[in-house]
Amino acid sequence: MESLNFDKLQIENQFVNLPLPNGISLHIKREDKNHHFVSGNKLRKLKYNILQAQKEGKTRLLTFGGAYSNHIAATAAAGKLTGMKTIGVIRGDELHSKIEENPTLSFAQNCGMDFLFVSREKYRLKHTNEFLTELKKNYDSNTYIVPEGGTNEFAVKGCEEILTPEDENFDVICSAVGTGGTISGLINASFSHQTVLGFPALKGEFLSDVIKRYTQKTNWQLIHDYNFGGYAKVSDELISFLNNFNKKTGISLDPIYTGKMIFAIFALSNKNFFKPNTKILAIHTGGLQGIQGINQKRAKKHQQILNYD
Ligand SMILES: *Cc1c(COP(=O)(O)O)cnc(C)c1O
Repeated sequence: MESLNFDKLQIENQFVNLPLPNGISLHIKREDKNHHFVSGNKLRKLKYNILQAQKEGKTRLLTFGGAYSNHIAATAAAGKLTGMKTIGVIRGDELHSKIEENPTLSFAQNCGMDFLFVSREKYRLKHTNEFLTELKKNYDSNTYIVPEGGTNEFAVKGCEEILTPEDENFDVICSAVGTGGTISGLINASFSHQTVLGFPALKGEFLSDVIKRYTQKTNWQLIHDYNFGGYAKVSDELISFLNNFNKKTGISLDPIYTGKMIFAIFALSNKNFFKPNTKILAIHTGGLQGIQGINQKRAKKHQQILNYD
């Protein structure tokens, strides 16, 4: 069986050979390729959670997510590779009859994940003691709970390993932001001359407070202008941009997270947001497993889809 060696997550920075104004250059750190079966930042976030679970003698991971969740897919895959059982608490009780048509859920199921489908109302209560106590009644004490999106102190520690000493040459580090765990790790690992820019994929006014819980440093900024109206909201302009970007660079981006970030970097460059000759490193946090599901939904509505080579 293939295995998961957390110490050997391959990474490379790829120069993006596209014209940017004022001598600005862009490299992308290909975290989407850090493992061929389970990749991206969700793997980084799971590393120390899984090591902790194993240290505590737990045999099962339980976590939460929506219908197309990268975190659900990653937890299922990492569980399979490390020999841990996995349970996904899934938002939306109507989905129980739609596993086969949902690429994320069928992938997770094929990895051996068991599901618990809950209504949206109930899902909102998932981090309350009441809900967790009820959950624990159903599962024995061998269960380790990972929060939604995977963000906790172990996740932040894992994301600190995304940056390496060779990345010191960059002036600006860019990352998409969901729950704030990944950017917190990047900030902790950044050099003091660097600025870490976060691009929330949702309307996340709360995010600054979350990040301040995980880092003492202040060399970071969130840019809220490129969430395209909210989580999983995608425009035709964004889809066209991503298809074009893929054609010219060979790099596939997801439209929920990394696509919005790269779109923003180009838009900000053209608005002279960056100083001349700024060297930018953008983190490709993965998320490519979600594209199939997004395309399915858009095709049903006769909307333009992502068309990658
Ligand atoms: C989850 C995710 C993010 C956001 O990470 P957080 O740690 O939740 O902020 C960014 N990019 C991709 C592809 C993701 O799946």
